[in-house]
Amino acid sequence: MSFKIMLLPGDGIGPDIVSSAVKVMKLVAGKMSIPLEFSEGLMGGCSYEKYGTPLSEGVLAECKASDAVLLGAVGGPKWESLPHNLKPEAALLRIRKELGLFANIRPAKVYDSLVESSSLKAEVVKGTDFIVVRELTGGIYFGQPRGFNETRGWNTMEYSRPEVERIARIAFEMARSRNKKVTSVDKANVLEVSQLWRTVVHEIHKDYQDVALSDLYVDNAAMQIVKNPKQFDVIVTGNLFGDILSDISGMITGSLGMLPSASMGTRYALYEPIHGSAPDIAGQNKANPLATIASGAMLFAHSLKNAKASAVINEAIEEVLSEGFRTADIFSEGSKLLSTTEMTEAVLEKTEKILSQKESVL
Ligand code: NAD
Repeated sequence: MSFKIMLLPGDGIGPDIVSSAVKVMKLVAGKMSIPLEFSEGLMGGCSYEKYGTPLSEGVLAECKASDAVLLGAVGGPKWESLPHNLKPEAALLRIRKELGLFANIRPAKVYDSLVESSSLKAEVVKGTDFIVVRELTGGIYFGQPRGFNETRGWNTMEYSRPEVERIARIAFEMARSRNKKVTSVDKANVLEVSQLWRTVVHEIHKDYQDVALSDLYVDNAAMQIVKNPKQFDVIVTGNLFGDILSDISGMITGSLGMLPSASMGTRYALYEPIHGSAPDIAGQNKANPLATIASGAMLFAHSLKNAKASAVINEAIEEVLSEGFRTADIFSEGSKLLSTTEMTEAVLEKTEKILSQKESVL
């Protein structure tokens, strides 16, 4: 039986970068005999143009009939003045909700060859490789009551035991396939909701005694990420803290065009680069496809549980970078400037080489 992947290329640079990722995924799947079946649909501004909605019921149904979704990016100036519910970005919230994607996973990996692009000193960031597991569908962004009047504004930060249990399990499972270290981030010295968070995470930890668990207050976590990012393996935290910490973590790696992400639920998973549709460079063959290719690698690792296929793709990306190939966004003096299609070709070539070298072990 083949594994069904729904492609949602979206707007702007989305179609180009998704097409790059699919080429790499098809090559790996073909060589490693992984049966994949792709379908494709419209989401975002392009869907609005055709169906009058940024996410049609038909496309949503197709996503629900798939095992994983690979998304490019949505949005652009053309649709900015639409009412909120028709904006391309509204489709992002809807799809996450409909697919029950409660965990957002954002790796913060600093590639050796791009270490100089970080805003931090090379010796601080070199070797950084951790992930932030952020709870995505609860916490203060959704808690009731909420509102404001002329004199007051209020929101509610709330977590239930099952919400914390399921995100904690995702973090511990992730840590098991990495360096077996989880840091749970909260504000338990001030917030009761964090006291529940901390209690439940420690209870779930009893099922994962092979993984080390520590706690950090969120203010200290923000400092530690900037001071010594190498100390982390898996950070698990709530929606608000995760929103901020995953952006800090992404930024220290030095390039938006390099960062993949995964959003997971019990049944579905969605993979996408963290950047947007980059309307300023759309249609110019300049986009960096590596974040989307790396999102494909995450799909192999987490949805297909095929760590080898994932590693082949990540290794190809590392090799291409270490040979000095760069798209415009990560270009520096002395490196070789490539277009989107040339970068894709370079990754394909490396992937092919790595696969043929590993043929005996695969
Ligand atoms: P953006 O991430 O699209 O672009 C920010 C800057 O980074 C731009 O200069 C862009 O050229 C550059 N950039 C981004 N990705 C790149 C890549 N792969 N290669 C080379 N350069 C890249 O953010 P923005 O400009 O704030 O938003 C543009 C549109 O994207 C907006 O409509 C926004 O709402 C939408 N958006 C969508 C998503 C998503 O689909 N998940 C996420 C963020 C923003």
